[in-house]
Amino acid sequence: MRIDLHTHSTASDGTHRPADLVRLSAEAGLDVVALTDHDSMAGWTEASAAAADFEISVVPGIEISTTTSGAAVHLLGYLLDPSYPPLATELALILQGREGRLAVIVERLNLAGIDITEAEVRRQVGAAPAIGRPHVADVLVAKGVVADRNEAFATWLSWGRPGHVQRYATQTETMIRQVTESGGVAVIAHPFGRGTRQVVDMEGLARFRAAGLVGIEVDHQDHSAADRRTLTEMAQELGLVMTGSSDFHGAGKVDHELGCNLTAQHEYERLLDAAALHAAAAGREVTSVARP
Ligand code: AMP
Ligand code: ZN
Ligand code: FE
Ligand code: FE
Repeated sequence: MRIDLHTHSTASDGTHRPADLVRLSAEAGLDVVALTDHDSMAGWTEASAAAADFEISVVPGIEISTTTSGAAVHLLGYLLDPSYPPLATELALILQGREGRLAVIVERLNLAGIDITEAEVRRQVGAAPAIGRPHVADVLVAKGVVADRNEAFATWLSWGRPGHVQRYATQTETMIRQVTESGGVAVIAHPFGRGTRQVVDMEGLARFRAAGLVGIEVDHQDHSAADRRTLTEMAQELGLVMTGSSDFHGAGKVDHELGCNLTAQHEYERLLDAAALHAAAAGREVTSVARP
């Protein structure tokens, strides 16, 4: 059973359409793939429809922008109900924050001497509801300002650089509660990735778990072997599910190929069990995803 629980499509900052992502996942030998675009579920319908053409299960998911003590914490939600009003309201605020940030980023880059317009970035964004820095990065690459997304982030877009502009994010515990109340399950993405390590210690995780957190992503390219051992111990101590994933972005992220990290089948089953409990508590039908 090959299970990859974190991927991005053109509904956010991935470079493949949802249907192509599903096809590529099947070709990569995956049995289960979760589509987890940033702050948007716009790719779900296309991905689910494509799943019927291949022998693969698609888990509807999302990677939500949250914040704890000033740190950006990415929260994966699976099998959540997008129509749950508090959740829908928060997601709309986050998308508005992404939308409003673009003009400021462009203005700051212009002030720093970079020739870039909002229209150029919007062409790059296309129909994606979640406008991200990677779209700005792709324009900078296309214009020959930088060689690739990594250089764009390092020079212009990461924290402390001219194009880094704060945007709205929900408090992590609030979002964990809303995902859970909607009948979904919440998992912290790459807990030891950029800038999150200081808020994801045992104390932080215990608070997140009290809010309903079900799991943490352990096997991720941002984590060293030592990180993975530490996170495994933390997950075991707190009874959290451990997931693994590629965080695939297509051409947008090197060394994140589909299936490069996987989730064990029994951990996936624990996730589905928790989702079934949360859906029952929410008075919802359990979203059917194929059981292994
Ligand atoms: P934003 O959504 O605008 O906050 O931008 C964050 C997104 O940029 C996430 O998808 C990250 O995976 C991606 N990202 C962050 N740093 C880099 C980098 N150095 N190279 C490529 N993508 C990056
Ligand atoms: Zn991304
Ligand atoms: Fe992330
Ligand atoms: Fe991601």
